[in-house]
Amino acid sequence: MVGYGRVSAMIRVGVNGYGTIGKRVADAVEAQPDMEIIGVAKTQPNFEAHTAVKRGYPMYAAIPERAPLFAEAGIEVAGEVDELVAEADIIVDCTPSGIGEQNRELYETHHTPAIFQGGESADVADVSFNARSNFDAARDADYVRVVSCNTTGLSRVIAPLEEEYGVEKVRATLVRRGGDPGQNSRGPINDILPNPIKVPSHHGPDVKTIFPDLEIDTLGLKVPATLMHVHALNVTLGDDVTGAHVRQLLEDEDRIYVIPEGLGIDGAGKLKDLALDAGRPRGDLWENCVWGESIGVNGRDLYLFQAIHQESDVIPENVDAIRAMFDLEDKETSMQRTDRQLGVGITGDPSGFSEQARAEFADDD
Ligand code: NAD
Repeated sequence: MVGYGRVSAMIRVGVNGYGTIGKRVADAVEAQPDMEIIGVAKTQPNFEAHTAVKRGYPMYAAIPERAPLFAEAGIEVAGEVDELVAEADIIVDCTPSGIGEQNRELYETHHTPAIFQGGESADVADVSFNARSNFDAARDADYVRVVSCNTTGLSRVIAPLEEEYGVEKVRATLVRRGGDPGQNSRGPINDILPNPIKVPSHHGPDVKTIFPDLEIDTLGLKVPATLMHVHALNVTLGDDVTGAHVRQLLEDEDRIYVIPEGLGIDGAGKLKDLALDAGRPRGDLWENCVWGESIGVNGRDLYLFQAIHQESDVIPENVDAIRAMFDLEDKETSMQRTDRQLGVGITGDPSGFSEQARAEFADDD
């Protein structure tokens, strides 16, 4: 039970901020058997607001003065955001970076626990969270931050390596997409930016919010792409290893897809095509996508490339964070349940994975 001690049989979840992350979190929560969406809060009645209505999510006005705009757009408003906060067992704050921090006071006023996203600084919450790496740290916490897409992607690889071999040092170069597909004001449009120019970048310290004792240096770039991030990793391990052993270790992780040779998946574009062809909602790839061919070992030095779908890899983590905070399940049970309900996990020939996932979804929903 979380510190505020509010638990109902079905966890009643509100989402504040219904954009790229918020709309995905809402659908993922709604797909679970032990939690439900009781409302979403938005600032404006844009196309995503209409999507929320179609999905049956009660709409709350994030900015009370703007409530009439929703009525003018034909969207019924169930109330104002503080009513949603008062009503919910937990709020998942998916507002833009820095707004979540401002919202914390609202959540405290109503004694409502909250999950923040990776755009907030670590001190917004009691715990920074990645399900695979530190699930139990969120037990009983009232405020949890699900770490960023990049930190989530790095943590999922580091956790099994650390457990199996020990990790002496991680060096990672993060080639980051300039913006999400809808963010037409972001760039670069035609440039390759060291970003931040100062090295090492802030990403390493963020990974240390999950692995406090880890030696890690990161470098960042931004490129004219919206599809995914790509990481080039060099990990110095505690033991001599073989590439085959590391590959098997990563293939055993449900939230890592080791891309087989021979499928012709030579970049992020083909990965997104794969997800769309397979019928994934919004073309999402919740898994880290590690190129099997790239897994190379030289003594204790491991090298690999992975692609991270920035819009969706944190979504299963938000669901698991809710279960951890309410002490509903152990780590393995929660992650398996989340994965099964969403259809996370690609193994071998991916041609049929979504049909299988959808069948399971229908059975359990
Ligand atoms: P977004 O801009 O797509 O969505 C944010 C939504 O919140 C928008 O609908 C916006 O209108 C709304 N909003 C703005 N002010 C608000 C307020 N005061 N109250 C309620 N809603 C408000 O942003 P996003 O990409 O979904 O990012 C949300 C958080 O998730 C950020 O912390 C971000 O760093 C983090 N994150 C984003 C990504 C990504 O790639 N998009 C990946 C991982 C984590």
